[in-house]
Amino acid sequence: MKLTKWLRLEFRLPWIVAIGSGSVERLPEILRGIGCGSVLVVTDATIRGLLGPRVEGLLAGSFKLGFVEVSTNHQPTLDKLHVEIPWAGYDCVLGLGGGRPVDVAKYLAHKSSKPFVSVPTSISHDGFASPIVALKDDSGNPLSLFTTPPRVVVVDLQIVSKAPRRLLASGVGDLVAKVTSVADARLAVRERGEEIPESSLRLAEAAASMVVDNIGEVSSWTERGLRLLVEAGLLAGMAMSVAGSSRPCSGSEHLFSHAVDKLYPGRGGLHGEQVGVGAVISAYLHGLDWRRIKGILRRAGAPTTVSGIGLSVEEAARALVEAPRLRERYTILHKLGLGEREALEVVAATVGSEE
Ligand SMILES: [Zn+2]
Repeated sequence: MKLTKWLRLEFRLPWIVAIGSGSVERLPEILRGIGCGSVLVVTDATIRGLLGPRVEGLLAGSFKLGFVEVSTNHQPTLDKLHVEIPWAGYDCVLGLGGGRPVDVAKYLAHKSSKPFVSVPTSISHDGFASPIVALKDDSGNPLSLFTTPPRVVVVDLQIVSKAPRRLLASGVGDLVAKVTSVADARLAVRERGEEIPESSLRLAEAAASMVVDNIGEVSSWTERGLRLLVEAGLLAGMAMSVAGSSRPCSGSEHLFSHAVDKLYPGRGGLHGEQVGVGAVISAYLHGLDWRRIKGILRRAGAPTTVSGIGLSVEEAARALVEAPRLRERYTILHKLGLGEREALEVVAATVGSEE
């Protein structure tokens, strides 16, 4: 039998995952276990103020520690920063913070071939356990890079429980959106013969259903609810590792969000907020139960309308028309090729108002 190249499946996953109340206390033992004696902590000013002393208290005695505060995800700036860091003095990179510091740490770790330790302080999107890094390129356009998944993921639920609710609701948006990203991926398998590992799609589906099936608990932000949200993010990260791309977790709803970022820079909402609204539109286009997705977002306290992400119906419709032009990856938007008028109707019917 002749094997074609797409039948090959090869991927990396995190070695150690620790999720729980007070999990951050496990860091010294875990870091020693992976042979990391000197740690570069990548964080931002806010999180350093909040958690820096605790991390220093935990690690300073037996580890060599360095701190870098980042305020941007602009790739050329990070490439300059990468050159300035004395890498020979560090064994691993620890990303401590919300979305951005973790992404930046993942990028710096990948560039310097050091193990990456992901310590998210909120779950505002699905990146904390994934190999994907979201940056801005030279012209400020969003850039998604496939790097290396974290060697270690430590999520302290006590810390995450103190994250602003808006960030966690945004995380719900990014995770429930796997309903439509998987629908897009399956469409591409059916209609374009795209080869996507089935296991990666099952993982992404499981991530979405963990949130959907448990939305009462998740949106009351109990410890169990938060753990379910974190576990869903972990499954989504694994889905992307298995697929070798963001494909299972990023479809038309993400293209809509990227188009919003591109057309209305500095406006719009958080990533997961935009993606959630995009998922309502995509679910409608796929003939799925879009009202259910809207209901999930509402319960989590995430925006369910375009005005909730700071846009008018006309502006959102323009983004919907622009979305499929941003990437060739086949989705329902590529299939339908919506014109301005159709886009307006779709946006008004689904996310134009609360109803
Ligand atoms: Zn996302």
